[in-house]
Amino acid sequence: MKIILLGPPGAGKGTQAALLVEKYSIPQISTGDMLRTAVQAQSPMGIEAKKHMDAGGLVPDSVVVGIVRERLQNDDCQKGFILDGFPRTRPQADSLKQVLKELGQELDSVISLQVDIDALVERLTGRRTCVDCGKGFHLRFDPPAQDGTCRFCGGELSQRDDDREETIRNRMKVYQQQTAPLEDYYREEGLLVTVDGMGEILKVHRAIIEALQDC
Ligand code: AMP
Repeated sequence: MKIILLGPPGAGKGTQAALLVEKYSIPQISTGDMLRTAVQAQSPMGIEAKKHMDAGGLVPDSVVVGIVRERLQNDDCQKGFILDGFPRTRPQADSLKQVLKELGQELDSVISLQVDIDALVERLTGRRTCVDCGKGFHLRFDPPAQDGTCRFCGGELSQRDDDREETIRNRMKVYQQQTAPLEDYYREEGLLVTVDGMGEILKVHRAIIEALQDC
């Protein structure tokens, strides 16, 4: 199963990708996660990427295409993969097509998660992650322990730098301008399926599975 999860920041791509990893035993390829790892490691690529990420902008196409190209060549991607947060621009989508052609692979489906803008801002501003175990929480929908620490390991919680309100607004603008047009791109390829991303996590998961069964 070779899938792209498309949708604005906060649409639930990461959450749904994690459930699909369990269901299909295929890897999640999150460019956001890979870039954050590079930022933490303070590699030259991470230092460059951080400037764009902190401003809510996009990391240059050549950088993200390079990391995805390398990742897709790993053996664990033979059976399938879930692309989460990639592609985000038309040149990225064109490059992905080229890379998959070189690897003799084809996409099965592009799932576009539909979520209202107000819900997106609420989801993103309330998002917190445990610095120790990496578990994600939401201050309103999945609260941490009462003292504000991780319910699982007691670790400290942190907010992603780019989940602050000013940055979120820029991320939304960038999404509308550069990523939303990919819906038409994949519709023309006959791969796009839209799924209502507003409901409960498991309800959205079931809708995705149903959509994938039809493709
Ligand atoms: P995400 O975790 O997917 O929300 O990504 C966080 C940030 O990483 C984005 O706001 C971008 O700055 C950067 N990023 C992630 N994926 C891409 C991509 N495909 N192209 C460019 N920048 C990206």
